[in-house]
Amino acid sequence: MCSRKARYYMPHARLLKQNRPPLNLPPAAGEAGPRLARVISRDGHPISRSRISPDALRVLYRLKEAGYQAFLVGGCVRDLMIGIEPKDFDVATDALPEEVRRLFRNCRLVGRRFRLAHVFFGQDIIEVATFRASAAPPPGDEPAPDIDDDGEAFEEAQEPLESDAPIDRMVDEHGRILRDNVYGSIDEDVWRRDFTANSLYYNIADFSVWDYCGGFEDVQARRLRLIGDPETRYREDPVRMLRAARFEAKLGFDIDAATAEPIAALSGLLAGVPPARLFDETLKLFLTGHGVRSYEVLRARGLLEVLLPNVGAFVRRHPGSAPERLLLRGLANTDERVRADRPVTPTYLFALLLYGPIGLEIEKMPRERWSDVGSILDAVEAAVRDLYGRVSIPRRFSLGVRDMFALQPRLEAPRGKRALRTLEHPRFRAAFDLLQLRAEFNMADPAIVDWWQRLQQSDPQQRASMSDALAREPGGEGAGGRNGGGRRRRRRGGRRSRGPGGA
Ligand code: ATP
Ligand code: MG
Repeated sequence: MCSRKARYYMPHARLLKQNRPPLNLPPAAGEAGPRLARVISRDGHPISRSRISPDALRVLYRLKEAGYQAFLVGGCVRDLMIGIEPKDFDVATDALPEEVRRLFRNCRLVGRRFRLAHVFFGQDIIEVATFRASAAPPPGDEPAPDIDDDGEAFEEAQEPLESDAPIDRMVDEHGRILRDNVYGSIDEDVWRRDFTANSLYYNIADFSVWDYCGGFEDVQARRLRLIGDPETRYREDPVRMLRAARFEAKLGFDIDAATAEPIAALSGLLAGVPPARLFDETLKLFLTGHGVRSYEVLRARGLLEVLLPNVGAFVRRHPGSAPERLLLRGLANTDERVRADRPVTPTYLFALLLYGPIGLEIEKMPRERWSDVGSILDAVEAAVRDLYGRVSIPRRFSLGVRDMFALQPRLEAPRGKRALRTLEHPRFRAAFDLLQLRAEFNMADPAIVDWWQRLQQSDPQQRASMSDALAREPGGEGAGGRNGGGRRRRRRGGRRSRGPGGA
């Protein structure tokens, strides 16, 4: 895998590799399985080396020169075929992890149950996996690595291994696989893949593409088809339902009827997936440039209510409500930021997603307490807690959501010098963005947004005089007053009386 940008979602995407994908079960006795690849030579496919990351090419060539097989595999081959820039480059080889390490100075082995080699090129990592035979560990059992405030992985999360760690398969008393480093060949490895479109191998030896499962035609037809029996594949790993939705959203592929059909009946299985893994999947769905489409697909496939139950329940009960429109606008803004290569954060995402549920929590309280910071904090806490059993939001992000909501009353009624301090708050920018969205959907006063906008654009002297002017106004609160705020403030109260959920 190659993560090229030091943006939040890129390093995190790197970490998601810790939640290893499981392997599909190998073909049952008597079941015809893919055995021989169809080899599509260079002139039969559009993949050009000029579009492959130079770091990935370096790894592929080094492996090949050392006498090993070396392939690009998975989503990068699929993406190169349809002309989009791959998010990461994964390499598959017959070299054992230790052999890979010996070839690269800048390499370390990670993952206890599913050993992989990470080859480092500055910020970038190319993930090199040895072909696996048959089954794999259950997904997501390893705790998700922690992430620091900037979204970077703590170094120890990479879990470097001792060189003499045993290579074996371990099973606990319930048959659960604890460790699986049983290596195989490429025609066994293909069974670990989920969709045919994700099972193509690009061979650096002659630039051909190897296709065991009909993935080549499926990519050309933009069709998403699970390898093997769909129900079995979803039962093995329910996250594949979310992956189907994500690829449908991201690539615009059609989910094949047989692959789509079991989702409605089996979506409940997602409840058994570790919440840390579902947190990772949520970020992949919403923070990689196609959040609006992901939302639409999740809703259409009945997956939103399973992945984010309180969000799903809210929009089912309040379709088209101001909080849902705020969420969609916020997701569209986030998609734009990703496209412009600007950083995005889970804090802001969860503030958007939980806006409706938080509003409902506030509405449970007596109306006169709706603007109290204490009520707001309680409501955020309740909404996050509701989600926690399904999607565990790391604390640093849920605290960020709290700050964003707790700052709203301060933003709506700025006071003298305190307004200047608010400007310095680490969550000011995110909270202000939320205020702007709220105003757009008639849930906050646009005049206040203007005032903060002007304050931010002012130099320190102007800022001081703006805050002094606030302090001088009757009641000491003047942003609204300056703009005819007494009246507006009452009107805002009027809006509020419709409930903070605005539903
Ligand atoms: P993208 O990187 O664009 O999100 P991808 O298909 O490359 O998509 P990754 O999560 O990077 O997805 O996984 C790389 C490959 O590993 C996949 O293409 C697929 O072959 C395999 N894989 C990943 N997750 C699973 C899973 N849950 N079940 C089976 N195979 C999987
Ligand atoms: Mg990938």
